[in-house]
Amino acid sequence: MANNIKYFIGNWKMFGVPKSIKILNKVNNFVRLDKKNSRNYKVVITPPFTILEAFSRYYKKKSITIGAQNCYHKDNFGSYTGAISPYMIKVSGAKYVIIGHSDNRADGDTDKILREKISFALNNNLKIIYCIGENKIEKAKKKTFSVLKKQLLRVLTKKSNSNNTIVAYEPIWSIGTGKTPTSNDLEKTVAFIKRIFKNSKVLYGGSVDGSSVINFKSLDDLDGFLIGGASKSSKKFIDIIKNYYR
Ligand code: PEP
Repeated sequence: MANNIKYFIGNWKMFGVPKSIKILNKVNNFVRLDKKNSRNYKVVITPPFTILEAFSRYYKKKSITIGAQNCYHKDNFGSYTGAISPYMIKVSGAKYVIIGHSDNRADGDTDKILREKISFALNNNLKIIYCIGENKIEKAKKKTFSVLKKQLLRVLTKKSNSNNTIVAYEPIWSIGTGKTPTSNDLEKTVAFIKRIFKNSKVLYGGSVDGSSVINFKSLDDLDGFLIGGASKSSKKFIDIIKNYYR
C-alpha cells in the first residue's frame, strides 16, 4: 500500500441485493472519471455475502474493489451452519475483509475468535480492515486508549503488518448516531494507534458523511474512512470523496 493513499471503505451491513449494483456502478464511474484525484485514493465496498461473488467478479478489473464484512473463525469447509470461511471469501474474488466490527463484537466475537479470524484471513491473503473502538461509558471514564491498546495487542497476530492490515477506529458512540470526535481528539487517537501498531494505516468510522468529513480533512495522518449508512447511497458516498478533496 503506497503511503499517502487514502481509503474510502463502504460497509453496507445488512443492505444490498443484485439490483443494488446500480449504486456501485455510479460510484465506480465517478472514480473512473475522477482523473484529478483518483490516483490518491482507493474505494472498497463490502456488500453482503449473498452478492459478494457476483460483485467481486464484476468489479475485478474496474475502479472499485470489493470486500467482505466478516468471516467465520474456522477455515476451508466444515460443519458450521451458515458460516462463511476466509477461504470461501478469497475464492469469491473479494480482496478485503472487515474483522472486529462492534456489531460482531456485540454478537459474541471475543478477542480469541477475532485472532482466529485474522489468522485465517491472512493465510488466504485477504487484506484485513480491523475495527476497534471504545463505547460511551469507556469514553466518559477516559479509558479510550487502554481499550484500544488491548483491542490491538490481544488480537493482531505476528503476521499482522501495515501491508496486510488497516485499522479502522470506530468509536461505538459515533456509529449511526451523527456524533463524531473532534478533529483534535481524533488526531491524538490516530497517533496513539500508530504508536502501538507501527506504520499502520488508520481510518476513522462513525457517522461520516459529506459534511462531517470536512472536519477531518486537515488530519494528514488519517488514512481515510469507513463509511456505513452513507455508503448505501451513491450520491452521499461520492459527496464524501468530493468534499474531502474540495
Ligand atoms: C459502521 O457501522 O461501520 C459505520 C461507520 O456506520 P455509520 O457510518 O452509519 O456510522
